[in-house]
Amino acid sequence: MDQKNQFLSAPTAARAFGFFVDGEWKDGAEHFERASPGHGTPVTRTVRCTVDDLNAAVAAARRAFEDRRWAGLSGAARGSVLLRVAEILRRRRDEIAYWEALENGKPISQARGEIDHCIACFEVGAGAARMLHGDSFNSLGDDLFGMVLREPIGVVGLITPWNFPFLILCERVPFILASGCTMVVKPSEVTAATTLLLAEVLAEAGLPAGVYNVITGSGRTIGQALSEHPDVDMLSFTGSTAVGRSCVHAAADSNFKKLGLELGGKNPIIVFADSDLEDAADGAAFGISFNTGQCCVSSSRLIVERSVAAEFERLLVEKMKKIRVGDPLDERTQVGAITTEAQNATILDYIAQGKAAGATLLTGGEAIDLGRGQYIAPTLFSGVSRDMAIARDEIFGPVLCSMHFDTVEEAIQLANDTVYGLAASVWTKNIDKALTVSRRVRAGRFWVNTIMAGGPEMPLGGFKQSGWGREAGMYGVEEYTQVKSVHVEIGKRSHWIA
Ligand code: NAD
Repeated sequence: MDQKNQFLSAPTAARAFGFFVDGEWKDGAEHFERASPGHGTPVTRTVRCTVDDLNAAVAAARRAFEDRRWAGLSGAARGSVLLRVAEILRRRRDEIAYWEALENGKPISQARGEIDHCIACFEVGAGAARMLHGDSFNSLGDDLFGMVLREPIGVVGLITPWNFPFLILCERVPFILASGCTMVVKPSEVTAATTLLLAEVLAEAGLPAGVYNVITGSGRTIGQALSEHPDVDMLSFTGSTAVGRSCVHAAADSNFKKLGLELGGKNPIIVFADSDLEDAADGAAFGISFNTGQCCVSSSRLIVERSVAAEFERLLVEKMKKIRVGDPLDERTQVGAITTEAQNATILDYIAQGKAAGATLLTGGEAIDLGRGQYIAPTLFSGVSRDMAIARDEIFGPVLCSMHFDTVEEAIQLANDTVYGLAASVWTKNIDKALTVSRRVRAGRFWVNTIMAGGPEMPLGGFKQSGWGREAGMYGVEEYTQVKSVHVEIGKRSHWIA
């Protein structure tokens, strides 16, 4: 049986995972059972770790950092471990994608594509480990020479959400490792399996014990304790803006740990009348439906030029109606299940708010009953005004709101009318409009005539309340370093005391 077909039904019993500290698997007294959101049956069982478990993991990461078992290696040696990880991930791609689809509810074909992106992250991380360098100053006069060193920041805490459990992990781990740091990871309690599988992969690739540790458990106990921990030098948090804010308080009240924050978004997609409307409609349908809209960079605010708005919305409805919503393990599925019951209720509530506020529902707007699991039809509202909750809040579901504009200035103003600044996209064949809008809209990632394109060479992160710092690429590695200035006097000192 080929690997692809081996995993196409849900398991008959939950798979049990331990947690991973100092190169060893451990079990705990209490467990968390996760049911597949696409099937409603138990698929995994993970440990509810205690704060003592967390403290042991931070201590292991500290020892592994201080004795330089990882930071002391050459960039080439670190890079070769990361390249081996890429090879192992290639071998285990279908298996990891399977657990990702089961816990998260995303389509299996999409999950496989995500693992391919993760492989690329490790390859780029391997190159970055070799290329990481500082700077020098030959301009301080003949008797003084300056060097700027980039040193790993130390022990990193990494907290990840449930929407892209493996992808978000792999957009960070290779770059943290490339810098020479060690880490303690706390995945979302509902999607921890693939973070634990990565521990197996890293160990097989030759990563020393204690460099990558995983503690599973709730955000309120383990996440909070990690963000408050006095021996963690940096926290990379990806999740909601509300929890991001609590991490800022925790860092300030503990040890002023450095923070990397990747938070929410309410991302505009601006469509001009001169664009290829077919292409733009396909991009808009994809941008709101990918990962059931549970995507920090989902393009959830359609800002379309009034003269083509009716035609564009008609094209878009046609496309959205054709999207195949279904079982995550079905190869043909394009949109899978909503990941948690709470999120399902939140999305349906926003749809009800949109209707009550007087927005016009053009398609979707309801749950889809497949006999098991939780599914919502891709939804388009028109006639949305900027003060409606559906236009302002991050819904984190397949709900797109359409607003209309007449001038370039008005499009930019509407796009910037949000507390977020994560991503944006513009569709036009006019280079002046494309460049003007790209430069004036405040967002960390921008797409012109495309959406959600790119690779781990390019940095990602947000403006405004979408976060602090950048992940991936050389920018991502540098985030996990700190800069030290070294001054070297050359020759005989000119004495202060005569
Ligand atoms: P969340 O903020 O509820 O949880 C994220 C992580 O934080 C989880 O591991 C959770 O257990 C943990 N956590 C919860 N409470 C905590 C606390 N008090 N202290 C420390 N950690 C705590 O987010 P979610 O519901 O898992 O994910 C959805 C949100 O994540 C959305 O707002 C989305 O926009 C955002 N997100 C952002 C990006 C990005 O790159 N900007 C990517 C994915 C998701």
